[in-house]
Amino acid sequence: MTAVWATAAIVGIAFLAELVITASLSAFGRLPQSASDFVLDALLLAALIAAPIYWLVLKPLRREYEKRVQAERRAEDLGQLAITDPLTRIMNRRGITVSVLDAMAQAERYGNPLAVAMADIDHFKQVNDTYGHEAGDKVLSEIASVLSESLRMPDKVGRYGGEEFLVVLPHTTLAQGRKIAERMRSAVGAWPFELGGKQTSVTISIGLTQFQKGEDLEQLLSRVDRALYQAKAGGRNLVVTEKIPARSASRA
Ligand code: GH3
Ligand code: MG
Ligand code: MG
Repeated sequence: MTAVWATAAIVGIAFLAELVITASLSAFGRLPQSASDFVLDALLLAALIAAPIYWLVLKPLRREYEKRVQAERRAEDLGQLAITDPLTRIMNRRGITVSVLDAMAQAERYGNPLAVAMADIDHFKQVNDTYGHEAGDKVLSEIASVLSESLRMPDKVGRYGGEEFLVVLPHTTLAQGRKIAERMRSAVGAWPFELGGKQTSVTISIGLTQFQKGEDLEQLLSRVDRALYQAKAGGRNLVVTEKIPARSASRA
């Protein structure tokens, strides 16, 4: 029911009610003449129209409003679902890609620093091979939680691939990003994973770089990947920072 129809319905109900009241009063020989008659008329009118207005106008309007709110909520949930990784409950590749592109656009426009990191679980295949795929899934979920908890707004983390996590750190210099990446690395390394009935540690390697104005996502990610590769080659459980140009990369 639209607002126009609701208004027309209220006017119609009031008009009919007033007709009934006037006809009844005149049948009893009491057409409104004095102030008290007008008060009586108004009271009768209010009493007659309250229920029909509520049932015929306000209730359907409220039902319609609630339906609309529910539909909006459902659409929002579906949108959220489309960017959420079902296993780890953090953003999936699509979600974190939108985040990094958004952060790049902001950095490009306003010139604020932007650090980006890729974290990869060390020897994860071994975890699967030794303890089973289900245990591997549990490790993935726990690492996703540890990484999320070591970040603050507006930093973001998402599962970029199988056992790779992309971290977006807006308004963050390389030096600050390095501290955050170290915090993530040591938080995961210190986490007591329960594997095969005993506490075991699992580590991650992290490649880190800073966005350079004018570059695209592919260029940025290939630099992050290079840094990650160096962290793996350097023995794992490391943070490696790759600056521009590539030759000036510094190792942890
Ligand atoms: P590295 O230290 O060099 O990264 O070694 P790695 O064993 O972690 O790397 P590799 O690329 O050889 O293996 C990655 C493994 O991650 C293999 C794949 O089965 C596992 N993996 C990817 N996605 C999932 C997943 O959703 N669940 C589980 N349990 N394992 C996964
Ligand atoms: Mg990998
Ligand atoms: Mg790995």
